[in-house]
Amino acid sequence: MTPLPFSDLPLPKAMLDNLSSIGYHEMTPIQQQSLPLLLENRDLIARAKTGSGKTAAFGIGLLLKLEPTSFSPQALVLCPTRELATQVANELRRLARFQANIKIITLSGGISIGPQIGSLEHGAHIVVGTPGRIRDHLSKKTLRLDRIKTLVLDEADRMLDMGFRDEIKQIAQMTPTSRQTLLFSATYPDGIQALSGEFQRDPEMISIEEQQSPLKIQQSFFETDREGRMQALHRLLLHYRPEAAVIFCNTRQSCNELGAYLNSEGFTASVLHGELEQRDRDQVLVLFANRSCPILIATDVAARGLDIDDLPCVINYELTRDADTHTHRIGRTGRAGREGLALNLVIPSEGYKVNAIMEAQQAKDPDFLPLPELSTERAAPASMVTLAINGGRKNKVRPGDILGALTGTSGIAGSSVGKIFIFDFVSYVAVERAVASKALGQLQNGTIKGRKYRIRKL
Ligand code: ADP
Ligand code: MG
Repeated sequence: MTPLPFSDLPLPKAMLDNLSSIGYHEMTPIQQQSLPLLLENRDLIARAKTGSGKTAAFGIGLLLKLEPTSFSPQALVLCPTRELATQVANELRRLARFQANIKIITLSGGISIGPQIGSLEHGAHIVVGTPGRIRDHLSKKTLRLDRIKTLVLDEADRMLDMGFRDEIKQIAQMTPTSRQTLLFSATYPDGIQALSGEFQRDPEMISIEEQQSPLKIQQSFFETDREGRMQALHRLLLHYRPEAAVIFCNTRQSCNELGAYLNSEGFTASVLHGELEQRDRDQVLVLFANRSCPILIATDVAARGLDIDDLPCVINYELTRDADTHTHRIGRTGRAGREGLALNLVIPSEGYKVNAIMEAQQAKDPDFLPLPELSTERAAPASMVTLAINGGRKNKVRPGDILGALTGTSGIAGSSVGKIFIFDFVSYVAVERAVASKALGQLQNGTIKGRKYRIRKL
């Protein structure tokens, strides 16, 4: 498919200008196929792999139909997890910048419902959330869906997997039948057809086949034994020195043991537990995404919903029994055209797992490499340090304000500031380790938009 520019579509100039300002010039294949149909208000089933730009596809479509002067929800996007809902809402906010005053609200579980009710009272154009929490709001009558024009089921395959079928049904029933219903998904399991049959009108089906370049991911295997596993991992980390890596274990116990070991060896590693409080989980993910804690250790369950755009390396400390799970694990690297590294430790009794993986990937012989020698160098500390600010979106703190406060009079250089994440009541900014103390002082002694905040170094 020859890529076409967005300007090939009948989009308002302000929308086109905004798209190019965020670096979107050409449409991705799923956008190219779905947008013309979306603009005709057709129902769609769209399948394309993760990272292919599905959010902007439905996002542009639903934004163009909004009536900014009406503050009742006109678009509802259902997502399987809170993290995905947050990501989608953030992407929609970027896309919505072409128009003033579009309000987007996220309603997900894991945080208290009270403040959400407060926000809903102020009105919103777009609601993004998880099915469970949206249903809670419907039963409390704190959310009305009778003006919905677009209903999106994002990651529909995963919502089905997670058992959200009934919630989705109850929610859809509260929306007008005249709505446009869009079903986006990375895979196309049987359940999707049935789901579509229940909610969609004469849907058009779009499926983008993966090009035959599955080896953006360089996958290597290293043989070790049960006792040598930890040291083998240590060697891999010192040899490959990935800028960031997710390490998968099969049990929580392995995660904990490995986390304790790596930290004692001078690495900065966090364990992502399934049972972390949402706030703590957010914090772990922020520190990982901004490179303050470059190693994340997780089980498959804990990593659910974990979507990272530029993950250079995935390590399987323990191989999974199931080849699909393996593919899902390593598919988190090698995205957006970048090379990914997938390193796998194998103990002798796991040869059958390697065979199953090779078969599922229709790959030839596995690439077995000798374990690198243990480097005498110690692990380097993380390149970035995170400062937490006790103010966020609800305090009208924006990334530019934090950047300004850090770099203002005799502050640090803008190039030393990393990613900035803003939550409702807290913000996190990463700065280079070398300037961390100066940055901390600058924020503690200064103000952000004229207000004092409490600043902590994490
Ligand atoms: P999906 O939902 O299919 O997994 P996303 O919507 O999360 O994918 O998009 C993946 C990445 O691609 C995001 O970082 C997004 O900003 C980027 N992206 C989307 N559309 C375009 C485009 N047309 N040009 C450049 N980057 C894009
Ligand atoms: Mg998506």
